[in-house]
Amino acid sequence: MTLYAVYVLAGLVFALWLARQWTRRHASCERASRPRELANAELVYMEKLFRIRAPIRLVAKADRVYRLPGGSLVLVELKTRSTNRAYPSDIIQLSAQKVAIEHQTGEVVEPFAFVTALHPTSPRRWRFHRVRLLDEGQVIALAQRRSDILARQADPTYASSARACAGCAFRTRCDRFESQA
Ligand code: SF4
Repeated sequence: MTLYAVYVLAGLVFALWLARQWTRRHASCERASRPRELANAELVYMEKLFRIRAPIRLVAKADRVYRLPGGSLVLVELKTRSTNRAYPSDIIQLSAQKVAIEHQTGEVVEPFAFVTALHPTSPRRWRFHRVRLLDEGQVIALAQRRSDILARQADPTYASSARACAGCAFRTRCDRFESQA
């Protein structure tokens, strides 16, 4: 074996070792980010895009999808945030994923899901929130309302909680606060 071949072989072995280390670290990070209820579930999709045209046109990207021992699927949405809670927008996102996955794959997705929040300054501090998803009719109604508002066929309403306005990018243009300006 020439010296060149020895270098190439050593490089290959090193690359394989690095790949194995990365895979191990990634797998242990994925395990740590699982809610306890999914300890025995199988990870079936990661960051996977689903597209459907009916009953509504929908494109939804699922962070993680697990299969329970009974065969049904459970969705997990990963968020980096300092607040320890799940938001209504998380539930809408996950509910849209459920509709897209069920129609594209024909599989059953559980009506509950998890929002897994990682604190930005405390790595490894995962917090899990189990949420109940909207049913298909509610998702379709939301999508229809959005189209109607964009087409100016329906009037938008203010956020139900004024606390939602604190970080809103449209706050300076929103008439909710006109009388206070
Ligand atoms: S500031 Fe206006 S647009 Fe923004 S969330 Fe509140 S009500 Fe909605």
